[in-house]
Amino acid sequence: MKTCAYTFRNGEKCTEETRQNSEFCILHTELPEDEESEEFREINELKEKKVEEKVSKEDFNFEGARLLEVDFSEIEIKNNLDFTDAKIKNNLDFNLAVIREYAAFDGAEICGEAHFVRTKIDAIVASFNKAKIGGNAFFMAAEIEGDASFAEVKISGNALFEAAKIRGGAFFQKASISKDISFNAGKIGGIVSFQDATIGGIVSLAGADISGIALFERANIGKDVSLVKTKIVGDAWFPKTKIGGDVAFQEAEIGRDVSFNGAEIGGRTIRFDRAEIKGELSFKKAKFKNPKAQEDACRTAKNIWAKLGDRDEEDCYFRLEMEAKRKQKSSIIRFLEFIFVQYLFGYGTKMKPAFIIWLLIVFASALSFWIGNGVYQLVAYILAAIAAIMGALFIAIFARKYMR
Ligand SMILES: [Zn+2]
Repeated sequence: MKTCAYTFRNGEKCTEETRQNSEFCILHTELPEDEESEEFREINELKEKKVEEKVSKEDFNFEGARLLEVDFSEIEIKNNLDFTDAKIKNNLDFNLAVIREYAAFDGAEICGEAHFVRTKIDAIVASFNKAKIGGNAFFMAAEIEGDASFAEVKISGNALFEAAKIRGGAFFQKASISKDISFNAGKIGGIVSFQDATIGGIVSLAGADISGIALFERANIGKDVSLVKTKIVGDAWFPKTKIGGDVAFQEAEIGRDVSFNGAEIGGRTIRFDRAEIKGELSFKKAKFKNPKAQEDACRTAKNIWAKLGDRDEEDCYFRLEMEAKRKQKSSIIRFLEFIFVQYLFGYGTKMKPAFIIWLLIVFASALSFWIGNGVYQLVAYILAAIAAIMGALFIAIFARKYMR
C-alpha cells in the first residue's frame, strides 16, 4: 500500500492510501477541470463517500482536502473541525451547525460563498487567517465563544456579521474585502481590528456593542463608515485611515478617545450629532476632500476640547473650522479673509501677529505725525484710529486667551 504524499502543516504525512495512478488519497486529489466529464463525476462521488465515512466516525479533519462543496449545516461537530488549506470549488455551508472544539479554516480556498448563519462555535478561536472566499461570507447571528480571526483574509464579496456575537476579539488585520462589511447590531467582547485592511465598500458597525477598542489604523475604506448608535468602551482609532465616503457617528457612545490623525476623508459629511465621546477627539494633519466635512469635524473637536478645558486645542480646531468655512465662500472673500483674518490673526486666536501689526501702525502713525505737513497729518489720524481699533482687538484676544 502506498500512502498519500500530502504533508499537513504540523509536518505529519497523510496516512490514507493513494488512489490508482495517483500520489494522493481521494480527499487530497484535485478535482478535474471539466465538471461535465465522467472522470469528474467519478472522483467527486468517491470524495463524497469518503466525507460521509469520516463524518460517521466523527472525524472532521479535512486539512488540505479538495472538495466540490461542503454541507455541514445543522449538524453538531464534537471534535476539532479542520479545513486548513482546504480547497472548495463551490459553497461552504455551516448554517445552524454547532462546533464544539477548534474551528480552523486558515489558508482555505472557498471559490463560492461561505455560510455560517446562526452557527455556534464554542472554540477558543474561530480561525480564518489567510483564507480566500470567492463570494459573500455570511456570519449573521453567528455565535463565537472565543476570538474570531480573519487576518489577511480575502473576501471577494460582502462580509456580513449582522447580530453576530463574538465573545473575544474580531481581528481583520490586513484583510481584503471587496464589498461591504457589516457588524450591525453585533456584539464583540474584545478588540475589533481592521488595521491595514482594505475594504472596497461600506464599513458599518451601526448599533454594535464593542467592549474593547476599535482599530482602523491605516485601513483603506472605499465608501462610508458608519458608527451610528455604536457603543465602544475603549478608543475608536482611525489614524492614517483612508475613507472614500462619509463618516457617521450619530448617537455613538465612545468611552475613550477618537483619533483621525493623518486620516484622509473623501466624503461630504462627517457627523457627530448627539454622539457622546468621553475622551479626546483629534484630527491632527487630517485631510478633508470636502470643506463641509472639515467644518463639521473641527466644530465637534472644538466643542469637545472646550469641555475638556484645553484652550490651545480648542483654538486650533476653531481656526481649522473657520478655515473650512472660508473655503466654502467665493474666491475674493476667501482670499481677503485668508490674508487678513486667518493668516495674520488666526481668527482672533493668535496674539503675536496682532501685537506686531499694532506696534507697526503706532510707529507709522507717530512717524507721519512727526513729518507733520497736511497729507501726512491726515494719514497719521487714520493710522491712529486703526491703532485704537487694533488695540481693542488685541485686548479681546488677550482676554480670551488668559482670562476665564
Ligand atoms: Zn491524503
